[in-house]
Amino acid sequence: MKKLVVIALAAICALSLFGCDNSSKEEKTEGDTLVMATNAEFPPYEYYEGSDIIGIDADIMTEVANELGMTLKIEDMAFDSIIAAVKSGKADVGVAGMTITEDRQASVDFSDPYTTARQVVILKDGSEIKTVDDLEGKTIGVQLGTTGDIYAGDVEGATIERYNKGYEAVQALLQGKVDCVIIDNEPAKVFVSQNEGIYILDEDFALEEYAIAVDKGNTELLTKINDALAKLKDSGKLQEIIDKYISAE
Ligand code: GLN
Repeated sequence: MKKLVVIALAAICALSLFGCDNSSKEEKTEGDTLVMATNAEFPPYEYYEGSDIIGIDADIMTEVANELGMTLKIEDMAFDSIIAAVKSGKADVGVAGMTITEDRQASVDFSDPYTTARQVVILKDGSEIKTVDDLEGKTIGVQLGTTGDIYAGDVEGATIERYNKGYEAVQALLQGKVDCVIIDNEPAKVFVSQNEGIYILDEDFALEEYAIAVDKGNTELLTKINDALAKLKDSGKLQEIIDKYISAE
């Protein structure tokens, strides 16, 4: 699987002559660069392989940038800095498995969704938590500023422990510092597969949609991105990228 991903990436790099090199923009002028703010701690959407940031979002945005005749440059930062980066113009787009929320829509505009996702609950083996309702009064680990963080705030009597990285919340669960972690389903699957003694609760916590954030009012860029996304959906390329990183259940 990993080998396949590497081969596929190499093929995309070879074919496109763009992207895949997150740092270089030598042969391109500043105006041709599409700067993507992300938090590369969120497999399979964005994560490090060596010094490269790869994943579903990185691949989708490489394709979108190609459609726009631009070169993608990825800037890694804390998840809760991404919207500020887009607003200040430090980045053109925020792409980080970012859920469309009303609150965020007050500061940024979102593209059409490119995937649906779920918030799930990770538990330690032997947990007494059997349903989402059982989270009442429990200590919940979340990643700072994520929808998991926001939803945890609605759980009656819960104590919320916030971590900079989703993986740190999972570590806290393994160490017994929190009773559960609320996080997106695909990263949850990756973290559970990498650690013994934890599992995902059958019942989902919430359904959501991921989209690309641009600065509020940047309709020119937003329209171009939506057109590019529509092309990727129609051609099957979008699904191909998703299937490359997520094996069918
Ligand atoms: N989907 C969640 C959110 O938008 C988490 C994203 C992330 O941690 N990268 O808040």
